[in-house]
Amino acid sequence: MQSMVVILGTGGTIAGVAPPGASDLAYQAAQLGIDALVAAVPALQGQPLEAEQVAQLDSKDMTHALWQLLARRVAHHLARDEVRGIVVTHGTDTMEETAWLLQRVLAPAKPVVLTGAMRPASSRQADGPRNLADAVALAQEEGAHGVLVALAGAVHGAADVRKAHAHRLDAFGSGDVGPLGRFEEGRLQRLRAWPSGDGLGIAVLDAPPATWPAVEIVTSHAGASGALIDALARNGTRGVVIAATGNGTVHEAIELALERAAWAGLQVMRATRCGDGAVLDATGTGAAWPAAGALSPAKARVELLLRLLAAQQGTATSPT
Ligand code: ASP
Repeated sequence: MQSMVVILGTGGTIAGVAPPGASDLAYQAAQLGIDALVAAVPALQGQPLEAEQVAQLDSKDMTHALWQLLARRVAHHLARDEVRGIVVTHGTDTMEETAWLLQRVLAPAKPVVLTGAMRPASSRQADGPRNLADAVALAQEEGAHGVLVALAGAVHGAADVRKAHAHRLDAFGSGDVGPLGRFEEGRLQRLRAWPSGDGLGIAVLDAPPATWPAVEIVTSHAGASGALIDALARNGTRGVVIAATGNGTVHEAIELALERAAWAGLQVMRATRCGDGAVLDATGTGAAWPAAGALSPAKARVELLLRLLAAQQGTATSPT
C-alpha cells in the first residue's frame, strides 16, 4: 500500500527567517530545518510522512554537486514501494531549473512536487505552510506523476513553469499554456495532463560534478559583440545557450562568433529571452542553431548540459 510521502528539505525562503522587526525582504534563507517546517503545518500532523534534510542553501547558490545528490535521493525514495510521492522544499530562484533536471533525468511515474515560498517562515504573510500542505496533497493525488511545482494554489508542470515575478506571492506561471491545475478549497482541479516523456536515467549524472561540461548562457541584445563567445570558446566551455531576442533571433556579431566557436566544438542552443512563448522554427539569423522550444534560457542550459553528459556516456537523448 503506497501511502508514504517523503519530504526532502533543501533550504530556500520557505526555511528563511528575518530578524525581529526587520522587513520581510531582509531575511536569511535556509535557516529552519525540514522537521520544523513540517511541524508548523497542522494539516500534516498524523500523516504518513518522512522528512529528510538533503541540503540547507539559498537556491541562488545551487550547485551541480547538490543536483547530483538531490536527484539520487529522489531516485532512492521513488524506488521504495511504500512511497506514494515526494515533496522537495526548495528556494524559488532556481526551482524551475531543478524541476527540469529531475523531470528529464527521472521522468518519474510517481509525483515529485517542488514547493517553496516567497516570504520567510517568520513573516506574518508566510506562504510556506499553505504551499507545503498543497504539495503534500498533490504528492498523494491519485494518478499524479511527473515533476510538478506547487505554489500559491497553482500546480505547474516542469517543462512550462517559470518564476515570472521577482517578489509577488503568486510568482510562478506556465506562460501561454497556463497551470496544470489549481487547488480550490483544498481540492485539486486538474486542467491539463500530467508531464510525460522519457527520463535519461539517474546514471546520466554519474560523472563527478567537477567534470561536468561547462555550459553558459549569453544574452543577445542591441550593441552585442562576439567577445563573450570568443572567450568561452577559448576557455574550454562546451555549450552555450543564447538567450535570444524574440523568436530565437541572434545578433549578427554573436552569430559570427558562434560560427567560429562551432569549429572548436562549442554546442549551441537558442532560447528566447522573452518572458513567454516558445521559439518556433524559422529561417533567418540564428536559425542554424537548435531551438529550445518553450524552455526558458536557464532550463535550456539544463537541457544542453544533460545532452552533453549523455553524449559523453553514449546515452541516446530524445529532443524535448
Ligand atoms: N533566494 C531564495 C532561494 O531561492 C528565494 C526563495 O526561496 O524564494 O533560495
